[in-house]
Amino acid sequence: MSNDERTFVMAKPDAVQRGLVGTIISRLEERGLKLAGAKFMQIDEELANQHYAEHQDKPFFDELVAFITSGPVMAMVWEGADATRQVRQMMGATDPKEAQPGTIRGDFGLDLGQNIIHGSDHEDPGANEREIDLFFDEEELVDYERSDEPWVYEDA
Ligand code: UDP
Repeated sequence: MSNDERTFVMAKPDAVQRGLVGTIISRLEERGLKLAGAKFMQIDEELANQHYAEHQDKPFFDELVAFITSGPVMAMVWEGADATRQVRQMMGATDPKEAQPGTIRGDFGLDLGQNIIHGSDHEDPGANEREIDLFFDEEELVDYERSDEPWVYEDA
């Protein structure tokens, strides 16, 4: 398994307003995942429609777009072994009320519509790359070694 799988992660507007961006970054960093890109930004309606296109026919779509455009977000790319699935596990279930304690949603959220964090779906092949491409230009992503990599990966 390669150690350089990339996934798209976003601290949603509620995470920014509640001062949880640092905590989210810390959890992913401490796991051994490597930050490859980050952008503090305001999502406009067009980008929100593109990002959540798969949900456009769902009853919650308008609320979802209103929420994700309601304030700034921290959009990020994280890299590591099995990164997409591992981040999803760390996020917990979509509804924070169902998310296990110890997960980000399970520790910080109580509402399905305000669930703190987005991560690419590991069950949708290519979702990670599509989302990274939607939010980042290639030159905004950084390739570098973290000095602790040999202590995270046996084969590094
Ligand atoms: N969502 C919602 N109501 C629902 C289902 C989903 O408001 O009934 C929101 C929720 O914030 C979720 C987002 O829509 O994070 C995208 O849904 P998805 O099923 O892709 O969940 P995720 O991948 O974020 O866990």
